[in-house]
Amino acid sequence: MQQFTSTRIAPTPSGFLHLGNAYSFALTAALAKRSGAQILLRIDDLDRKRVKSEYLADIFDTLSYLEIPWDTGPRDYHEYEATFSQVHRMALYEDALRQLRAKGVVFACDCSRTTLLNGHPQGVYTGACKTKRLSLDTPGCSWRIDTAAAALPEYMQYFVVRKKDGFPAYQLASLVDDTHFGIDLVVRGSDLWESTQAQTYLAEVLGYPAFRDATFCHHPLLTANGQEKLSKSAGATSVRYFRRQGIAKEEIYQTIGRLLGLAYPVYGWQDLVPSIG
Ligand SMILES: [Zn+2]
Repeated sequence: MQQFTSTRIAPTPSGFLHLGNAYSFALTAALAKRSGAQILLRIDDLDRKRVKSEYLADIFDTLSYLEIPWDTGPRDYHEYEATFSQVHRMALYEDALRQLRAKGVVFACDCSRTTLLNGHPQGVYTGACKTKRLSLDTPGCSWRIDTAAAALPEYMQYFVVRKKDGFPAYQLASLVDDTHFGIDLVVRGSDLWESTQAQTYLAEVLGYPAFRDATFCHHPLLTANGQEKLSKSAGATSVRYFRRQGIAKEEIYQTIGRLLGLAYPVYGWQDLVPSIG
């Protein structure tokens, strides 16, 4: 297998981690081990309204329960708060936003959720505010990047780089972080494929060649009953639920293997590599 320097596990503390998250992190660990990559634990906590301390604690509890290792990043809640929260990297995100502004590639958008849905049934943004030329300093506006020249999935056209609350949007923060930490292997669910396209485009605009050249592994999503997407609110698929039932970690891994339809038994993260060929 190709060798890599760094990969990351990037949970969001907006709910209790479920089996699909566990699979993603376990696969990341397995691929890191095979490819010589260091693992960074990066907690994506910029969506401040959804962050709860019990969800943060759940991240550490789940990783330790599943014995998924990591090399850099916070060892515990205290280190996370003191050093590793994305809040501590705000200057990096703001610098990237300043660069986008200086390049003249962003515009302010004051569309409400209702306006967006009225403009397009799925809420796909069609560039309505591009010609309004609102000041980027207008309070309560988001910043969108002009993607008219890019071949992006419909859902990512004119994607938001700065949210209405002034915080950097996920696409920007994730890209800046991956660049900052020298990530050259990104393992994520296939539901983030569109995000990868958006971030690759943003990397080109900002001049971050390392991200463009990184390797991406988009793994299949675990589903309940063969079709339903797992969600963080569904209690019975949360790792915490299993943990509290006193179920051994091997059983969790076996369940993941079953949900993936693997023909061989899985007892730990080390067994997962063959699942992506
Ligand atoms: Zn708008």
